[in-house]
This record gives sequence, structure tokens and C-alpha cells, in this order.
Amino acid sequence: MTDHDEVAVVGAGLAGCLLACFLARRGHRVTLYERRPDPRGGQAERGRSINLALSERGLDALRRIGLDKQVMADALPMRGRAIHPVSGPLDFQPYSSDGERAINSISRGALNNALLDAAESAAGVRVVFDHRLTGLDPRTGDMTFQTPAGEVSARAAVVLGADGAGSAVRGQLLAHAGLRESLDFLDYGYKEVTIPPRDGQFALDPGALHIWPRGTSMIIALPNPDRSFTCTLFWPTGGTGSFASLSSPTAIERHFRAHYPDLLDLAPGLVEDYQRNPVGLLGTVHCSPWQSGGRVALIGDAAHAIVPFYGQGANCAFEDVVELDRCLEETGGSWTAALPRYEERRRDNTEAIARMALANFVEMRDKVASPVFRLGKKVEHA
Ligand code: FAD
Repeated sequence: MTDHDEVAVVGAGLAGCLLACFLARRGHRVTLYERRPDPRGGQAERGRSINLALSERGLDALRRIGLDKQVMADALPMRGRAIHPVSGPLDFQPYSSDGERAINSISRGALNNALLDAAESAAGVRVVFDHRLTGLDPRTGDMTFQTPAGEVSARAAVVLGADGAGSAVRGQLLAHAGLRESLDFLDYGYKEVTIPPRDGQFALDPGALHIWPRGTSMIIALPNPDRSFTCTLFWPTGGTGSFASLSSPTAIERHFRAHYPDLLDLAPGLVEDYQRNPVGLLGTVHCSPWQSGGRVALIGDAAHAIVPFYGQGANCAFEDVVELDRCLEETGGSWTAALPRYEERRRDNTEAIARMALANFVEMRDKVASPVFRLGKKVEHA
């Protein structure tokens, strides 16, 4: 295999598009296969997060392909957390002592579209929509895709699975190449509801990540460029106060009135949103190895999906891309040398962030409301 053989990237999400841009810079011919239709100009996929927090880790990757300024033009910097108690005043907790350090609220759709545009305009990259990978022979790079026109076959020298937490590429490595995996789901899910603008303005401070910590549950809200906020409810899936326990409009309203009273005023369509929007799963993917024979590898959530409480999944996926590019550079473009090196360099980091993300759930839903925490503990991020 040479540096310039055809590479297939499966999944035109955040990691896949960025990866295509980096590989194009190295002179590769890349085909980016995406199961969905072209998302540009369409609606965001329901059940996915509408916005996400981009930190310096992710920005560093965007800077390397000259996309940081475009993406940051619509970013909303959040310089701390605003804690909403059941009653009483808000408590603002800055992320840094000088109040200057921020994480950025970004539209997931806009970020994905910007990356897709960049990938599509890069020399040597071809993007193919409506292609869902259904089969892969890791020894030969033979792939099969389900498309609206029926089954399609293709072959590539290297296949990179950037197809998210439920990765089909990972499934094929599990079936044919001795990969082992464990999927650890939380007894919690997430649901999104919207706080619309009020009189054309943000209804809350857009310079903060808002948190309603309630011990075993929490809600967070991030600002959007259209002056709305997207609230994400992180609640248990079963038992008292769970998604399952609240079905009628009266029960939903009563629950919010008791636990999140300010939200009912801020979000007049809350009950309708609650009933209409799906509950997403939350889990951690562990698998090993991430690559097979120097020909097939996993990247981003496909290799190591994490729970979203540290706001680092996409940032981490971007770091994977930068590291893989670095390994290719160091090994003179040898995939067989670069892929194991990439896995070795990224594994400890991704396992650490997976643990930190789980720990941060307890911190966000419970400890941030404690007076001891407010007085004594320094916090870096969400
Ligand atoms: P994805 O974004 O999932 O992209 C995978 C792509 O592959 C998709 O386009 C999909 O359609 C495609 N695909 C799937 N299967 C196939 C197939 N068989 N064939 C072809 N294509 C396929 N991260 C942050 O950094 N900050 C945050 O604030 C943050 N908040 C989050 C909030 C929530 C509620 C959730 C659930 C996640 C959050 N994340 C956040 C995590 C972040 O969304 C993911 O880590 C990130 O999207 C991973 O990117 P990816 O490209 O690896 O996977």
C-alpha cells in the first residue's frame, strides 16, 4: 500500500469530514460514504444534540485546516456556569479565575456542514450520500453498501470507520477480525427542549452554560445563534421522576413546577416539546483493537463513544484525526505502521476522558449546587 492509494472513510459526521480534509492534504484519494442524504439545507436529525461545546482541543484541529475562524464566527463563548436552584438567585461560577477562559457553544449542524463543504472542495475527495455500509471484509477492503438503488460494492486500500457510536465498521471488525467490545449504557437518557428568544433577545445570559442540578437528575442549557437555548434533560429512564414516569401533560407540568419552576416560564412550549422529542441513549463504548492489519481502523465515537457530561466527545474525535495525521507523517505514510501507533497514542487519553465524563455527571447534577463546592473547588469546564 502506498501513501496515495484510495482511502474509504465511512461516515460523514464530524470526525469523518475532518479526516477527509486531513487525508486530502496528504495527497490521498478519499471517498467519504454517508448513510444519510446530504444534510445541507435540511433539518437537523431529531434525537441528536443541536449544539455542542467546542473547546481548545477541537479548535486546534480546525485551525490546522483553516476552518477555525469560520466556525467561531457564530460561536457563543460561555465563560462559566449559571446554577439555577429550585428557588432563590442564580449562582454564576466562572471557569477561570480571570473570567476569560471559555468554552464555545456551536451549532452541530453548522459545524458538520462547514466540514462537509471543506471536505467536498478538497482535491481528491468524493462524497457519496445515501450509502449505508452493511458489509466489510477487513482483509481485502471489499465493502457493501445499501443505497436507494439497491446494494452497491466498492473496494479501498484502507477503510476508516468514522461512523459513530453504533459503528457498522466496528460491527464488521467484531464479526471478522477478532475485535472485542463492551457497551456500557447508563440508566439515564436525554431529551431536548427549547427556550425560545424573548422579545427577540436571549431569555437567559448567553455567556453561561446553564445548569439545573437536582441530585439524581439535571438539565443543562446552551445558547444558540438564533437567540434560543437548547435545554437537555438528563433524567433516569425508569423510576420516580424518570422519563417513563411522566406521560400526561398534567404530570409533566406538575414535575417541572415542583423541580424546575423557572423553566416553565422560560419555555412556553415545554410540555409539547417534551411530548414530541425522543429520548436518546447515553453510554460508553470500549473496544480493542481499533485497527486491523494496517488496513481498517476506527476513529471518533466509533472507537470510543463517551457520555456527554464533559462536552468532549467531538473534541476528542478531532484530536484522533490530528494524531492519525501525525502518525502518518512520522511513518512516511505507511498505514501498517501508522494505525497501531495512532491507537497506542490515543487509547489512554480516550479512556481517561471516558472516566472523567462519567464522574462529571455526578459533579454537574449534584455537587455544583453545594456551598462547599462553590467556596472551595476550582472547575475547568462544563
Ligand atoms: P457522529 O457525529 O455520530 O457521525 C457518524 C456519522 O456516520 C453520521 O453522519 C452517521 O450518519 C454516519 N453513519 C453511521 N452509520 C453509518 C453506516 N453504516 N454507513 C455510512 N455512514 C454511517 N461532544 C463535544 O465535544 N461537546 C459537546 O458539548 C457534546 N455534547 C453532546 C451532547 C449530547 C446529548 C450527545 C449525545 C453527544 C455530545 N457530544 C459532545 C459528543 C459528540 O456528539 C460526538 O462525540 C461526536 O458527534 C462524534 O463524532 P463522530 O464523527 O465520531 O460520530
